[in-house]
Amino acid sequence: MITVKSTQKVYSEDEISRLTGICSEHLRGVARSKHLGSIVRAAEAAGGQTERWQFTSTDLSVLTALFPRCEH
Ligand SMILES: [Zn+2]
Repeated sequence: MITVKSTQKVYSEDEISRLTGICSEHLRGVARSKHLGSIVRAAEAAGGQTERWQFTSTDLSVLTALFPRCEH
């Protein structure tokens, strides 16, 4: 049984990177291959779009458990 807290925190890519020690480049690769996190597209003033990743605390615990911090 999964309990979802109403106050469940959403982590940005930067926060995850800082918490796990996985650099954003590898974090994106892992997120794509493991279907973790979600991409939020935000419109930019210049008319383009930026991709931003969001992760839940569940994603965070999976990342922490499965992937060692980057050493490069
Ligand atoms: Zn890395």
